Amino acid sequence: MLRSTLLKLADSPRFAQWVTSNGTTRRMARRFVAGETLDEAIEAARGCNNAGMLASLDYLGENSTTTSDAQRARDAYLEIFERIAQEKLHANVSCKLTQLGLDLNVDFCQGLVFSIVEFAARYDNFLRVDMEGSAYTDRTLEIVKRVRARNPAVGTVIQSYLFRSERDVQDLLTYGCRVRLCKGAYKESAEVAYPSKRDVDFNYVHLMKILLPSGFYHAIATHDPHMIAETIRWASARQISKDDFEFQMLYGVRTDLQRRLVRDGYRLRVYIPYGKDWFPYFMRRLAERPANLGFLLRNLFRK
Ligand SMILES: Cc1cc2nc3c(=O)[nH]c(=O)nc-3n(C[C@H](O)[C@H](O)[C@H](O)COP(=O)(O)OP(=O)(O)OC[C@H]3O[C@@H](n4cnc5c(N)ncnc54)[C@H](O)[C@@H]3O)c2cc1C
Repeated sequence: MLRSTLLKLADSPRFAQWVTSNGTTRRMARRFVAGETLDEAIEAARGCNNAGMLASLDYLGENSTTTSDAQRARDAYLEIFERIAQEKLHANVSCKLTQLGLDLNVDFCQGLVFSIVEFAARYDNFLRVDMEGSAYTDRTLEIVKRVRARNPAVGTVIQSYLFRSERDVQDLLTYGCRVRLCKGAYKESAEVAYPSKRDVDFNYVHLMKILLPSGFYHAIATHDPHMIAETIRWASARQISKDDFEFQMLYGVRTDLQRRLVRDGYRLRVYIPYGKDWFPYFMRRLAERPANLGFLLRNLFRK
């Protein structure tokens, strides 16, 4: 109920205006967002690398409404790849297709994605296409598959809360596509997604067991200690090497667990978002954990 209210508020421009201009919420967002500039994101990535972690930089933004906004986002991604190379960071990049014009025109969006992937490949790097709400799943997968057919430096994300995900995993594997497995962060109806955490978790483990022995390098993105323990147990029983997959977690979430995995010899990539357009991302993080909202409300009332 609370999760669904928060995810609904994420679509409200008035609420966005209030949250992004309020000092307390701005400060709290900094827990999850590295900053508003690329320099701040680069510093966060360097901090991760120094702690033995990999990074994935995400320039925040969703649902571009003009082609020039989408092109500007594409240029920002090219700049990120350039900076990663200049700074010799162990980092790749994550992006969202609605930021790159998916709502405007599929072919236009695909063209921008292709140009980013070509650029990434020149630096021997990789672009991860995040997965958004289920209204975008088909189009996202189509674009990723078409771009990947021309250049393998791209992968995408599968959400275990969707009923369709096993079919999508099998399909992506026939393309040799690298997959990030997550639970899913959007508000979805019971017609397309499991409503109960138990089923989402069960499907997560099921999909992990299809992905890991596939021979391609995948990412297990979760902060859930049960999902992580099951992955470790299952991979080691099948002698799947610690180097054949990676764990991923979000910037500012379960840093204790991040450090523990690195100490135990696992690859761990931190997803580092930055930029001015942090409101929807921040709302999804609040929705994931009611305690985050409690913390925010306590601080607002204390003021
Ligand atoms: C690297 C990465 C990339 C992602 N990319 C996508 C994507 O492309 N599309 C998409 O739909 N979703 C994406 N997600 C979000 C994901 O779908 C989940 O919403 C999110 O990871 C929470 O699920 P969980 O697996 O951590 O498990 P949960 O069962 O939600 O959480 C397990 C535990 O993790 C901790 N935790 C989880 N979230 C938070 C939080 N926000 N703040 C504090 N503690 C928290 C809590 O201790 C909680 O008890 C991504 C997540 C990660 C880690």
